[in-house]
Amino acid sequence: MRYSALRILWEGLTGNKGWTPTWRDAEPKADYDVIIVGGGGHGLATAYYLATVYGITNVAVLEKGWIGGGNVGRNTTIIRSNYMLPGNEPFYEFSMKLWENLEQDFNYNAMVSQRGVLNLYHSDAQRDAYARRGNAMRMYGVDADLLDQDGVRALYPGLNYDDARFPIQGGLYQRRGGTVRHDAVAWGYARGASERGVDIIQNCEVTGMDISGGRITGVQTSRGPIRARKVAACVAGSSSKVMSLAGMRLPIESHVLQAFVSEAMKPIIPGVITYGAGHFYLSQSDKGGLVFGGDIDGYNSYAQRGNLPVIEDVCEGGMSLMPSLGRAKVVRSWGGIMDMSMDGSPFIDQTGVDGLYFNGGWCYGGFKATPASGYCYAHLLARDEPHAVATEYRLDRFQRGAMIDEKGVGAQPNLH
Ligand SMILES: Cc1cc2nc3c(=O)[nH]c(=O)nc-3n(C[C@H](O)[C@H](O)[C@H](O)COP(=O)(O)OP(=O)(O)OC[C@H]3O[C@@H](n4cnc5c(N)ncnc54)[C@H](O)[C@@H]3O)c2cc1C
Repeated sequence: MRYSALRILWEGLTGNKGWTPTWRDAEPKADYDVIIVGGGGHGLATAYYLATVYGITNVAVLEKGWIGGGNVGRNTTIIRSNYMLPGNEPFYEFSMKLWENLEQDFNYNAMVSQRGVLNLYHSDAQRDAYARRGNAMRMYGVDADLLDQDGVRALYPGLNYDDARFPIQGGLYQRRGGTVRHDAVAWGYARGASERGVDIIQNCEVTGMDISGGRITGVQTSRGPIRARKVAACVAGSSSKVMSLAGMRLPIESHVLQAFVSEAMKPIIPGVITYGAGHFYLSQSDKGGLVFGGDIDGYNSYAQRGNLPVIEDVCEGGMSLMPSLGRAKVVRSWGGIMDMSMDGSPFIDQTGVDGLYFNGGWCYGGFKATPASGYCYAHLLARDEPHAVATEYRLDRFQRGAMIDEKGVGAQPNLH
C-alpha cells in the first residue's frame, strides 16, 4: 500500500477500514541467501538496501524480540555529520544525504527534522578544536558555522551565559543536523523491505552458528535451524555475545546509556544542543518534552536500565547549562545497551569465517549512521568488497595501528 495525503483522506472518509499491516510477520523458511541477525535500525536498513539497490530479496531478518525494541527505539534521535577524520566524515555525510531523502525513498513519515545541531564551546582551546573540526567538515563539502556568544544567544536566549562556572563562548553549528522519529525509522525500513519480499521474523533468537570447514552454513534459532549462504550479524549491544557463537572476541564492551524526557512545555529549545563543559545534550520533542542524556554508566552491562549516579550527573550537567531546567519534572527514563568500540568508531566487515559478516561498535552514535550503515553493509554483502565510504571500518585496524580515534581517548569507552 502506498501512503499519501489522498490515501489518508480516503481512509478518513471510509472508516479507516482499508489500511493493511505495515509489514508481514513472516514464518521462517528452511533457507535463505542472506540471514540478517538483529532487527534494529541497521539490520532492517541492510535488508531494505539489499532489496532495493542490490536486488537481493531472498533475505530473512531474525529478531529475538520485536522490531524497534532495541536501541533504534531507545535513542535520543539526533542525526548529524559533524565528524573530522577521513575514515568517518564521508560516511556520516553519506548518511545525512540518505536521511534527507529517506521519507520519499521508503514512503513513510519518519519526521526527519533538520533543526540544527549546536556543539557549545567554553574555552579558547575548545573553540580552536571546533574551528579545526568545522574546517575539516567544510573541506568535505559539509555545512559548518562557528558561532560566537552572540550567535548562540540569538538561537538560545535561555542558557546560562553570565554566572556559569564554564561560561558559553560560542558553538559549532551544523544547520543540516537535527532529529528523526527513531521508531518510525525501524517501521519504515521494515515496511519497505517486507513489501519487496524480505521475511521479517520476530521472536526468533539466534542461539548458534553452523560453521563447517571455515564456512558458515546457517544458524540455530529459538524457532529451529535455518540455512543460509551468508549470515550478517547486526545486533548492536549484543555484538560480543552473538559473535562469540562463532568463536570470535571483539574489541567491544557493552555499557548502558540512559535517556530522559521531561514533562511537556512550550517550545524553548529549537534544535539540538550539546554542552561542551560536561557530558549533556538536549533537544525538545514535537510533543513538548525535553529529551536529554549524557554519559554512559561506567561499568559493563547487558541490562537495559541504568543507575542513579549517572542520572544525577546528567541532571547536574543540564542544570549548569540551563538553570531553569531544575523546575522541570522528569517523567520518563530508560536505558539501551551500547556496543562501545575501543576507538569510538564502528565496524562493517567480513570476518575470518567465510560468509559471516559483522556490523557493530556503534557506541552511542549509531542512530545517525542507520541509513549509511545499512547501505554499506548491503554493498559488502552483495559485492564482497567495502563501499567507498566505509573502507576504514575494518576489524583488523587495531592490529594495523590504524584506529579511527576521533577524540583521541583510545581504550576508554566512557570517554568517547
Ligand atoms: C539512550 C540512547 C541514546 C542514544 N542516542 C543516540 C543519538 O541521539 N544519536 C545517535 O546517532 N545514536 C544514538 N544512540 C545509539 C544508537 O541508538 C545505536 O547505536 C543504534 O541504534 C544501534 O543500531 P541498531 O538500531 O541496529 O540497534 P538495535 O535496535 O539495538 O538492534 C539490534 C537488535 O538485535 C537484536 N538481537 C540481539 N541479539 C540477538 C540474537 N541473538 N538473535 C536475534 N536478534 C538479536 C536485539 O533484540 C535488537 O533489536 C543512542 C542509544 C541509546 C541507548
